[in-house]
Amino acid sequence: MAYIALKSFVGLRQSSPEKNAIVLFKPTTVSTTFRHRRFRINASKSSPRVNGRNLRVAVVGGGPAGGSAAETLAKGGIETFLIERKMDNCKPCGGAIPLCMVGEFDLPLDIIDRKVTKMKMISPSNVAVDIGQTLKPHEYIGMVRREVLDAYLRERAATTGATLINGLFLKMDLPQSKNAPYVLHYTDYNAKTGGSGEKKTLEVDAVIGADGANSRVAKGINAGDYEYAIAFQERVKIPDDKMKYYENLAEMYVGEDVSPDFYGWVFPKCDHVAVGTGTVTHKGDIKKLQIATRLRARDKIEGGKIIRVEAHPIPEHPRPKRVLDRVALVGDAAGYVTKCSGEGIYFAAKSGRMCAEAIVEGSENGKRMVDESDLRVYLEKWDKTYWPTYKVLDILQKVFYRSNPAREAFVEMCADEYVQKMTFDSYLYKRVVPGNPLEDLKLAVNTIGSLVRANALRKEMDKLSV
Ligand SMILES: Cc1cc2nc3c(=O)[nH]c(=O)nc-3n(C[C@H](O)[C@H](O)[C@H](O)COP(=O)(O)OP(=O)(O)OC[C@H]3O[C@@H](n4cnc5c(N)ncnc54)[C@H](O)[C@@H]3O)c2cc1C
Repeated sequence: MAYIALKSFVGLRQSSPEKNAIVLFKPTTVSTTFRHRRFRINASKSSPRVNGRNLRVAVVGGGPAGGSAAETLAKGGIETFLIERKMDNCKPCGGAIPLCMVGEFDLPLDIIDRKVTKMKMISPSNVAVDIGQTLKPHEYIGMVRREVLDAYLRERAATTGATLINGLFLKMDLPQSKNAPYVLHYTDYNAKTGGSGEKKTLEVDAVIGADGANSRVAKGINAGDYEYAIAFQERVKIPDDKMKYYENLAEMYVGEDVSPDFYGWVFPKCDHVAVGTGTVTHKGDIKKLQIATRLRARDKIEGGKIIRVEAHPIPEHPRPKRVLDRVALVGDAAGYVTKCSGEGIYFAAKSGRMCAEAIVEGSENGKRMVDESDLRVYLEKWDKTYWPTYKVLDILQKVFYRSNPAREAFVEMCADEYVQKMTFDSYLYKRVVPGNPLEDLKLAVNTIGSLVRANALRKEMDKLSV
């Protein structure tokens, strides 16, 4: 579907070229873990050795980005501190994760509430299309509760050697000279000083900002702002017979009523469903949009009791700056949520891991000081790997979420098995899947047909509303 030509993409910016890096040998293979290192030498390898201790890195924020960054750092020989303000944090989130995350991050199956194998895409006029028919028997979308996933990743980081600090990061003093430490100020809730905590400082050589959409680390390096959506979600406990319907099924609702620029969802969890919606353009109307989403699903959630109400910003694109000196941003702090699907958990965990790998490699397992060029290795790898994914989803959002007739066309297209296969393969395995030329051509004709019908319908509707 990438052949639909549109305005230039505003997603991932190309990172600036690595400063100071002298690549003496071109890598022959690209490794995914630091266990299989790339054969490359750059200028940072002449950086000073850290004597009498290992490199110290603070990871601020213990969500999926922070947990996986801390685990990788600690495994790689770095003295790692993971600062999380709330150890039982329930991050407002739909909790849908792709199958590849389960394998790549070695997640135990008992932290997955539901394995979704059926997805209903529901149009503005309530035409429902079943997608997921092309899934193989072992394929599914995982549904997790964030308090469970995040705690698991943090604990795993601790077992590999990271020091967990239950603390609220406040600010950091930047180093005044090359290789001087960053001084982090935080309120420590580990200390036995009651609920108010104790003010403390921590000296480290590098910092990973994994503190989400309202990142204080990003502010600390003047990383700049991004546009954001506001997403709203209610956890609804529904009667057992209704829950049966959602056992392995999720729903996505599209329409001006549920969101002018996003979608509404009903995602199944262990003993409840998560009902939510989001918008960039109509943030003030978010509660109205939520009521509309609930109304659309009313027959299926009737008799339900709202047990939790939550809302949070979702970044729309990366921040202008993601690395500065020895500080790097990952996950939502960097702005890595995809358009169209609003997916960010996998990208948070993956960026945390990639950034940590770059630090482990650059520091030769914690023995040397790192500099900006080491951290930029992560940015370049990230942009190269994921730029196509962000671009395709950005285009899809622009084409199909712009009017109700376009949304009807989108749902109609979703009935196509080829579209389903391409969409699920891209989502589950996180790659933009190369298509079959003949099927692509058929799809192009069908897409144009659907869009022409959508436009014709819109014109008719415009006439009616005059
Ligand atoms: C309503 C909603 C639904 C969503 N649904 C999905 C979905 O179904 N699937 C999907 O993939 N993505 C979804 N997303 C996006 C996803 O939630 C994020 O992309 C993901 O959580 C990013 O992970 P992170 O680790 O970067 O940041 P976060 O998960 O935000 O974690 C940041 C952590 O930092 C901590 N922290 C923040 N500030 C400080 C501080 N000053 N000091 C110490 N600790 C701090 C927080 O307590 C938190 O634990 C959804 C988002 C929303 C809002």
